[in-house]
Amino acid sequence: MKKILVTGGLGYIGSHTVVELQNSGFEVVIIDNLSNTTFDVLDKITSITSIKPEFVQIDLKNKKDVLQFFKNYTVDGVIHFAASKAVGESVEQPLMYYENNITTLTYVLQGMNANNVSNFIFSSSCTVYGQADELPITENAPTKPAESPYGATKKMGEIIIEDTSKVTDLRAIALRYFNPIGAHETAKIGELPLGVPQNLIPYVVQTAAGIRECLSIFGDDYPTPDGTAIRDYIHVVDLAKAHIAALNRLLNKENKAKCEFFNIGTGTGSSVLEVVKAFEKATGKKVNYKIVDRRTGDITAAYADTTLANKELGWKAKLSLEEGLASSWKWQESLLNVNL
Ligand code: UDP
Repeated sequence: MKKILVTGGLGYIGSHTVVELQNSGFEVVIIDNLSNTTFDVLDKITSITSIKPEFVQIDLKNKKDVLQFFKNYTVDGVIHFAASKAVGESVEQPLMYYENNITTLTYVLQGMNANNVSNFIFSSSCTVYGQADELPITENAPTKPAESPYGATKKMGEIIIEDTSKVTDLRAIALRYFNPIGAHETAKIGELPLGVPQNLIPYVVQTAAGIRECLSIFGDDYPTPDGTAIRDYIHVVDLAKAHIAALNRLLNKENKAKCEFFNIGTGTGSSVLEVVKAFEKATGKKVNYKIVDRRTGDITAAYADTTLANKELGWKAKLSLEEGLASSWKWQESLLNVNL
């Protein structure tokens, strides 16, 4: 049985990936500092898979702890999710973001290198492309200057990993996620809301639930068919499965370069208004909305060309936008029930 370290394994994408890893026969050890999640996610994972993953609560900012972890545990690969991810917060607190997302990455890579662990999957983002000149976006599209410190950490993370892979045994795959949405079908794990949501789907869901009065749609004057901005919304379970495909590629030594990059999306773009309509259709719930000014830093449109991931990883998104939105709603309902 192969053993995989999942950093940030109790977070949103991490927890779904741990479930898929265990369902695929991997043994999992999770590192999480619980900064943006809760400990009970471990029990939820256990109740979904009937297997309790090993859990080590260390903070990756503590170099000594990270290096000691790699001395104590023998792992076959690392999937590195642990990072801060709020764009606005990163603008306010750049140093916190560089420490949380970059310093920690260098410690993990050092720990791996010192203990001959070579397989590494990195959570990257389509934010590295900025507003791409051509749509859909292929992996060959040039990366653009980052709009925020968060975006910069993803771009820099890729550079650090690729540079390291040139001079060590590191074999890495960076997955450039488009917009992850949805929750596990059991509604036991999902994205935990923390304050006012910044992302579209949590805001839509909370508006439908009556927690927020009205969704603000940021701009209807974009050069798109209905004037609202377009994104590629990928179901988190499909996204989790892409990690298993990438990991197997490394473990089977099928990678074609020391460091590879793949777009992980559905290949279809949806506008904000289309998302609202799809949500209403999928759930029968009404979403109040109003049009407001564009949000600073937002791009017009981004959706993936997934040809490379389909061909090389043998992976393809299977779940629809409606299924993603319905699962987000089911997750929200389960949270409401807990809070009653
Ligand atoms: N959006 C919106 N209202 C919100 C949150 C987001 O209209 O309250 C829009 C946003 O302008 C963008 C899309 O929804 O066009 C997706 O935004 P999100 O923050 O979820 O993802 P990202 O900006 O990272 O693509």
